[in-house]
Amino acid sequence: MASPPARSPQLVQIQMHLFDFYPKEGEEDSVGWLPSSSGSFRTGQTWHWLRSEQDRKIWYKLFWFSQAIPKHNFISWLAILNRLSTRTRQRKWTPAILDTCILCNNNSETNEHLLFKCSYAGRVWQQLSNMLAIPFTDSWSG
Ligand SMILES: [Zn+2]
Repeated sequence: MASPPARSPQLVQIQMHLFDFYPKEGEEDSVGWLPSSSGSFRTGQTWHWLRSEQDRKIWYKLFWFSQAIPKHNFISWLAILNRLSTRTRQRKWTPAILDTCILCNNNSETNEHLLFKCSYAGRVWQQLSNMLAIPFTDSWSG
């Protein structure tokens, strides 16, 4: 099979290496998925090949269960990983953004402030803890 002419020295090198993969005269060409032991593509095997294994978090069952609401799962998961799109995080990418809390206008809008330290969030948590008769803490780390 003739290849189109290479337009740069780098492409010439790549074409030279590709010749090693052309089937030899009389050989049949085949396609295989290298991460799979059988050579066929499997979504599950590819997922395990792509991701990095990490220790299972002890809190995962609080959010990932069969009847959970996906939107709530996702936001809770982002909060635990400190990845909510708070104004403080947004300001890292766009310095012109004010990082003042949108609810109280008093402090920087961080994960901990937005969820626990903010006066508005504190009132919500306090009422919720009263309704559920459970103790309330304003500390993110426990
Ligand atoms: Zn606030």
